[in-house]
Amino acid sequence: MWVKLKILWIRFLRAFTLKILYPFLMLLGAFIKSKKESFQDFIINLNNKLVKKLGIKTSKLLIMLPHCLQIDKCDIRITNDINNCKRCGRCNVKDLITVAEECNLKLYVATGGSIARKLVKDIRPDAIVAVACQRDLSSGIADSHPLPVIGVHNERPFGPCYNTKVSVEKVQEAIRAFIQ
Ligand code: SF4
Repeated sequence: MWVKLKILWIRFLRAFTLKILYPFLMLLGAFIKSKKESFQDFIINLNNKLVKKLGIKTSKLLIMLPHCLQIDKCDIRITNDINNCKRCGRCNVKDLITVAEECNLKLYVATGGSIARKLVKDIRPDAIVAVACQRDLSSGIADSHPLPVIGVHNERPFGPCYNTKVSVEKVQEAIRAFIQ
């Protein structure tokens, strides 16, 4: 009984976070532009904590990556099939493929919101681990609600959408939250 109430409460908090608090903070961010990314970070972190508290365990987990993780010098097309990657190790894609293989998980590159939505519609996962920038992650997590998503934001040492990186350890940690 108490466990059910606790789960309902967490679901309510998550819905409030993504459907009310997030749009409010984005409205505020339109006026205080310097704070917008920290508001997005706040929403992602709060969502991640709530999703972890739900204690969902599944093997139907989808890992979604942004195309900008692939370095610009690589001309291999990995958007249709990430297994085309030659695993040269010049970008994080190689390590993430290894992580997905070790856990027997589906791994895809989403080049935009509509592709991400199509992947979710086709694959119908129980949960998602998504890598993207704060803007795409926060909006993607809110769009996908009530589907449980843990977001890991990428690092952008060369600016947005170009040769980005991600902490493979943080992706593994997010995966561990879902798998048995
Ligand atoms: S690991 Fe190498 S082959 Fe694979 S996407 Fe990155 S640069 Fe291209």
